[in-house]
Amino acid sequence: MVADFRRRFWICLPLTLGVVLLSQHIQMLVGLSGIIAFPGDRLVEAALASAVFFYGGWPFITGLSSEVRQGKPGMMTLVSLAIVSAYIYSLAVLAGLAGEVFFWETATLILVMLLGHWLEAKSVLGASGALQALVRLMPATATRLGAGGAQEELPISALKPGDLVLVRPGAKVPTDGTVTEGSSSVDESMLTGESRPVDKTTGGRVVGGSVNGDGALTVRIDRTGGETYLSQVIRLVEQAQATRSRTQDLANRAAGVLTWVAIAVGGGTFAVWLLLGAPLAFALERMVTVMVISCPHALGLAVPLVVAVSTELTARNGLLIRDRAAFERARALQAVVFDKTGTLTEGRFGVVSVVPLGAGHDETSVLRLAAGLEAASEHPIAKGILRGAADRGIVAPPAIEFRNLPGEGARATIEGSEVEVVSPGTLGRRGIAVTDARVAAEHQAGRTVVFVVLNGAVAGAVALADIIRPESREAVRQLQALGLRCMMLTGDAKPVAEQVGRELGLDEVRAEVLPHQKSEVVQAIQAKGLTVAMVGDGVNDAPALAQSDLGIAIGAGTDVAAEAADIVLVRNDPRDVVAILALARATYAKMAQNLVWATGYNVIAIPLAAGVGMPWGILLTPAMGAALMSLSTVVVAFNARLLGRQGEHRLATLRRDIAQAGATAPAVAA
Ligand code: ADP
Ligand code: MG
Repeated sequence: MVADFRRRFWICLPLTLGVVLLSQHIQMLVGLSGIIAFPGDRLVEAALASAVFFYGGWPFITGLSSEVRQGKPGMMTLVSLAIVSAYIYSLAVLAGLAGEVFFWETATLILVMLLGHWLEAKSVLGASGALQALVRLMPATATRLGAGGAQEELPISALKPGDLVLVRPGAKVPTDGTVTEGSSSVDESMLTGESRPVDKTTGGRVVGGSVNGDGALTVRIDRTGGETYLSQVIRLVEQAQATRSRTQDLANRAAGVLTWVAIAVGGGTFAVWLLLGAPLAFALERMVTVMVISCPHALGLAVPLVVAVSTELTARNGLLIRDRAAFERARALQAVVFDKTGTLTEGRFGVVSVVPLGAGHDETSVLRLAAGLEAASEHPIAKGILRGAADRGIVAPPAIEFRNLPGEGARATIEGSEVEVVSPGTLGRRGIAVTDARVAAEHQAGRTVVFVVLNGAVAGAVALADIIRPESREAVRQLQALGLRCMMLTGDAKPVAEQVGRELGLDEVRAEVLPHQKSEVVQAIQAKGLTVAMVGDGVNDAPALAQSDLGIAIGAGTDVAAEAADIVLVRNDPRDVVAILALARATYAKMAQNLVWATGYNVIAIPLAAGVGMPWGILLTPAMGAALMSLSTVVVAFNARLLGRQGEHRLATLRRDIAQAGATAPAVAA
C-alpha cells in the first residue's frame, strides 16, 4: 500500500504540475495571464487532469465503493465525492457550461491526498520516520582485526560474536560488544538519551550505533544481527505501531461524522442555491467548495503524525513503548507503585557487617557459605555478598542444586549441607525468631538483613546497605506535585522499607511483600478506582507489571526484552517515569489540538464555503477552499513537529544533572 501511494504520488506530481502551469486561473493569480497558451491548451490541461483523476484518484474511488458496501462512509467517500464533483463540473465547463474549470484544484487535491495517504500508510505500517531514524543509526561496515593486527573492512552482517573490531575515534560502534583495549568516551545520546558522553575502558560495554569519542577502542563483539540493542528497539517500535491507538479510532469516527456533515451541507447548499434561483454553475461551485473544504484530510494525519513524532522522541531517549494504548493511558495515571531494590535504590549492596549466630560459626564461615550459595544468583543482594566476600579475601565454596526462592532468598547444597540465604520475613513464616541485639541494631539502622541458614538452623546474619538514588527523591516529588500517589512495595523488611519511605516522602510503603502479592496489591489499588502504574526491574515484578494499567520495566539497559512491561526504560532513572507521564500528556494534548485544528476550522469554513458570507461580499472559491484545507494539513503537520522540540526540552529539564545541584547524602550508606 505504501509503495502504491508513493508511485501514484510521484507519477501524478509532474502531471499536476502541467495542469497547474496550463491553468488560466493560476496564470491570472500570479499576474501572467496567457503566458503559456497554445492551440488546444485547454484540452491538454483537461487530458492531464483526467490522467491524474483516473490514476491518482483510483485508490479513493475504490475506497469509496468499499466504504459504501460496508455502509460506513468515511474519508474515502468524501474525498471521492469532492474530486468526482470537481472533475465532472470541470468537464461540464469544458463542454460549454458557464463557469470556470477547476482542473488544477482537482489535480492538486488528489496529489495532496496521495501524499497524505502515503505518509499515513507509512506510519501505520511501522515504516515511519521514527523507524527510519533508528535504522539510520545502524552502521554499515566495521573494521575487523585479524590475527597479527591485520585490518579488514567488512559489512556488519559478516561479523560474528567473538570477533575483534577496531572502532576509530569519531566512528560508529558497529554492534554490541565489550571493550578489550583502549579507552574513550562514547556518545550514546541517540540511543538512550544519555546526554553526556559515557567513559569506556577495558571491560566496558558498548552499544552498536553509538558514536566513539576521541580514543580508539578494540571491541569484542557480543551480539549481532537481530539480538543487538538497536535491532530490539526497532522491533519494539514496529510492534508498538501495530498496536491500536484509541485516539486514532476517535479520529476515524470524527472523520465519519464529518463526512455526513459535509455530504449534508454540500447537498443542502446545492439545493438551497438552486431554490434561491442561482445558476447551476454557481450552486455546483458552492457545493464542491464545501466538499473540498471539509475533506477530513488533516484529520487523517492529525494522529498518525503525532504518533510518529512521539515514537521517535521516546525511542531515541531510551523510553521504549511496547503498547501504544497503555502509553496513552499514562496521561491519566493516579498512582505509581515502585519496587524498592534496583528501582528507587541503586541495588548495589555493600556488606556492612556479618553477625555469627550459631555455635561454631564466625564471620568468615557465615560469609563464605553465603558467597558459595549466591555465586549462582543474579539478585542484587547476591552480588553484594559476593563483593563483600571477595573484599575480605574469602574464597567461595562450590555449590550444587541451586534454587531461587523468589522474593524470599535462595537455596543450594554446599559441601553436603543444605544452605539457604533468606529474608527475615521468611524466617518469621517458618516460626523462627532471632533475638539478637546486633541484628536488631542493624534493622533499626535501616540495613537490609538476610539470614544464612545451615541445615535448617540459623548460622548467622549479613547486614547490607544500599543507596537511595538521588533521582528517586526528585521523581517522587515531581509525581506528587502532579497529584499522583506514590507507593513502594518491597520484599525487604519493614524497618528498611520505612526508612526509604521517610527518606523519599512516599505516601505509602508495604514491606515483606512476596512477588505474587505485589500483583494483588496493585489489584487492590485498582479496585479503589485508581489508574496505577507499576515500576519494577522486571525480574520478579512481572506479575505486578502485567496487572497494572501501565507496567514500566526500569533499568533494562541494553537488554530490552522485558516481556511483561508496556514500557521499558533503558536507563536506571526513576525520573523517566515522570518523563513518560509528561510525554504521554504532551502527546495527547498534541493529538487533541490537532483534532481541533483538523476539524475546528470547518465550523467557520464550511458556512463560508456554502456562501453564507455572500451578503457581506465574502465568497470562497474552490481554490480558496483547497488552500484552507491544505493549510489545516500544514498546521497539523507543523504542530506535530513541535512536539519533538517541546518534548526534547521537557526531557532535558527533567533529566538535568541533580548530582551537581548538591545531591543529598545517601540515606543508607555503607
Ligand atoms: P524487592 O521487592 O525489594 O525487589 P525481592 O522481592 O527481590 O526484593 O526480595 C525480597 C527479599 O528476599 C530480599 O529483601 C531478601 O531479603 C530476600 N532475597 C531474595 N533473593 C535473595 C537472594 N538471592 N539472596 C538473599 N536474599 C534474597
Ligand atoms: Mg526487585
